[in-house]
Amino acid sequence: MEKDLGKEIMQMRECYRKGNTKHVTWRRAQLKGLLSFLAEKEVEIFRALNLDLGKNYVEAFRDEVGLLKKSLNLALKDLKTWMASKEAKLPSIALLSYAELVPEPLGLILVISSWNFPMGLSLEPLIGAIAAGNAVVIKPSELAPASSSLLANALPNYLDTQAIKVIEGGPAVGQQLLHHKWDKILFTGSPKVGRIIMSEAAKNLTPVTLELGGKCPAILDSLSWSWDKEVVAINRIIGAKYGSCAGQACISIDYLLVEKPFSSTVVELMKALIKKMYGDNPRESHSISRIINKHHFLRLKDLLTDQKVKDCIVYGGSMDEDSLFIEPTILVDPPLESAMMTEEIFGPLLPIITGAIPFSCLEKSGLSSGQLDKIEDSIDFINSRPKPLALYAFTKNEVLKERLVSETSSGSVVFNDAIIQFAADTLPFGGIGESGIGKYHGKFSFDTFTHYKAVARRSLLTDLWYRFPPWNNYKLEL
Ligand code: NAD
Repeated sequence: MEKDLGKEIMQMRECYRKGNTKHVTWRRAQLKGLLSFLAEKEVEIFRALNLDLGKNYVEAFRDEVGLLKKSLNLALKDLKTWMASKEAKLPSIALLSYAELVPEPLGLILVISSWNFPMGLSLEPLIGAIAAGNAVVIKPSELAPASSSLLANALPNYLDTQAIKVIEGGPAVGQQLLHHKWDKILFTGSPKVGRIIMSEAAKNLTPVTLELGGKCPAILDSLSWSWDKEVVAINRIIGAKYGSCAGQACISIDYLLVEKPFSSTVVELMKALIKKMYGDNPRESHSISRIINKHHFLRLKDLLTDQKVKDCIVYGGSMDEDSLFIEPTILVDPPLESAMMTEEIFGPLLPIITGAIPFSCLEKSGLSSGQLDKIEDSIDFINSRPKPLALYAFTKNEVLKERLVSETSSGSVVFNDAIIQFAADTLPFGGIGESGIGKYHGKFSFDTFTHYKAVARRSLLTDLWYRFPPWNNYKLEL
């Protein structure tokens, strides 16, 4: 296996060296091939996502197929502009000159992806990598086997198999791939494996983009709201938490910060809206994804086993191991030192944090007990934790908005909605600190897989006199 992998990678490098992938016609053909794959295999894709995750096909189109089509159309439309050299100015010492930034592909790219958006997280990086003219290996996640197998078996019919390959497998195959030299690795997954990727990549000085996870906070500022707007806000919170892969999304709302006096109103509204979306018996609902596998089901169940955490459940909490179903669940003030509040949840459990902040956390954040009575104190709370991939705030308070943008650090900030930033190809998608390194989506994907080579051209006609010695007449009298 290892020997074959080595041979395949060597052949791909050879193919890249021949230069085919750099031509605009090759890039266009691959992008169009991907569009055809999405169009012709749409039903198979929906079926695979349903088999792997119980994803409804509306959700699958909204979060994966539809977004991929949009990205492909953008890349096809803007490819020539992206590929064009950009003019740059040289300083006056370089008289009669011309300079430019010439976009150059990086070479051979490795994409290792996660299981929660198995199509999107494999193909979105691929779009950027082929638009930029690279050869690419994709290793999808073994935890979404139907999607991984569809990619491995169907994609070769649409793409240049000399330069683009899907290699299936789990961590062992991932490790084998990492033993080879790549010109860039884009990894989507956990911070734990992200560290492994980075240290393996360092051996060859390979640059990495790490799309990681973490705990994304949402702030709900109820003070200045009218009832209607609160319903809209809470509808969006519920939709973002439970309606995108049942909370198994890196930019899902991990926990909600609410001022204590409003928490019971918020919980009542949430209960009503969850019922509206998923009915009286959500177990029967086809609108909520299932947990990816038994391991993750038990991990989520474990988060609730601590009696102190269990006592905080105010809604939901039921589970069915056979169908890997977990009911949309709300908790109020689980202990901040519990795994629920220290680990990424990645599932349909939503803790609401109000004013009850235990002493251990206060030391770090500099708050004193009960200070989350004021929504502004959430800034200190957020800053006491690792930098998240996304920060959400539902508020009309413009001062708070400005403070959140300028006083906190996160991959993205979204006001009065959540998750929509993922769909924007005009915004860079990526984390900071523990939540990741680098960015992609839209033109940012092209840039992620491109080296902007500095090219300077000069005329041989003339030079400024001070460029070269002698400068004997210009002695400084000291
Ligand atoms: P993971 O880190 O366990 O696995 C990710 C990928 O790495 C898989 O393809 C897996 O086979 C591979 N892998 C695992 N161990 C490896 C090793 N030792 N060497 C090489 N490859 C290895 O993560 P996961 O369970 O697939 O995904 C969940 C995590 O991913 C969460 O933290 C989530 O927040 C994050 N995530 C981030 C984004 C994002 O865009 N930022 C998107 C989805 C998920």
